Amino acid sequence: MRPIFEATLVNRVFGDPGVLIDLKFERRAILFDIGDVSGLPTRKLLRVSDVFVSHTHMDHFAGFDHLLRVCLGRDTGVCLYGPERFIAQLEHKLAAYTWNLVQNYETDFVIIAHELGADGQVQRAKFRSRTGFLREELPMVQAEGGVLLESSAFKVRTIPLEHHGMASLAFAFEEGTHINVWKSRLEELGLPTGPWLTKLKEQVRAGAPDDALIRVHWRTREGARDEMLALGDLKARVLEFVPGQKVCYVTDVADIPQNRHALAGFLHGADTLFIEAVFLNEDRSHAQRKAHLTAEAAGEIARATGVRAAVPFHFSPRYLGREEELRREFEQAWKGH
Ligand SMILES: [Zn+2]
Ligand SMILES: [Zn+2]
Repeated sequence: MRPIFEATLVNRVFGDPGVLIDLKFERRAILFDIGDVSGLPTRKLLRVSDVFVSHTHMDHFAGFDHLLRVCLGRDTGVCLYGPERFIAQLEHKLAAYTWNLVQNYETDFVIIAHELGADGQVQRAKFRSRTGFLREELPMVQAEGGVLLESSAFKVRTIPLEHHGMASLAFAFEEGTHINVWKSRLEELGLPTGPWLTKLKEQVRAGAPDDALIRVHWRTREGARDEMLALGDLKARVLEFVPGQKVCYVTDVADIPQNRHALAGFLHGADTLFIEAVFLNEDRSHAQRKAHLTAEAAGEIARATGVRAAVPFHFSPRYLGREEELRREFEQAWKGH
């Protein structure tokens, strides 16, 4: 199957944390955290539609200005998501610049900010370049099951974890099921390809009943043909269902039982896990004070979840030149060798 998206670290392991999920075919990308993003090519930043911020320590949020600068003239806006106090902090960032020239832009660049409260309610606000990014309130929404964003192709879910007496959000990108068409089966059944297949897939995704009828209209050398076929029958005979991938992002979390317990459920079924591994186990008391994971703790969390691929990141600069030790400790705890 062709890869539908690509998930990669924004920086090397000693750089600011962040993961870019690039959905090339949708001409769209999402970011988990936005620290230093100056290493990302502009063409990729221009695709960013949604930014999920774990918490607002500088190494996770300082790159917002860079994104804004690159995207300001773009005709599609950007959505941001963060923990408590996020909207006020974003408002302050936007208020730190003078916007008297933005009226000259042809486009109105719109930012929609989402702030997840402790009660699962999501406060929202809009900031538009035309008004100099004055805050406009939007109605609250509820993050059902922690889902912050849902599109036809994927959803992004979150849980708050404990980090220094505040929340750090972990994120899961969950692709929808892929629906493929067996071309050879179509031929066997004497059915054409065409836009009707897109409609069929749409109906299946929308949960239409099996006895719903699908109209197929096409031309052959013998003339026009028209058939009404049962959706359930088509589903069984010409469609293939491939489960989507799940990619998780976990950073800046204390190694406490309550976080480990919450992660066990949240990471279930993940294909790829990006997880911080900040300190070596020999410095675990320091890790505790800083409310970060050691490489060993990160490896154990990956192991408990049974993920297929795990990528450690957010290494402390105190280990510059000792990257291999962190990787080894992580691998050992993850794979047991
Ligand atoms: Zn950090
Ligand atoms: Zn932090």
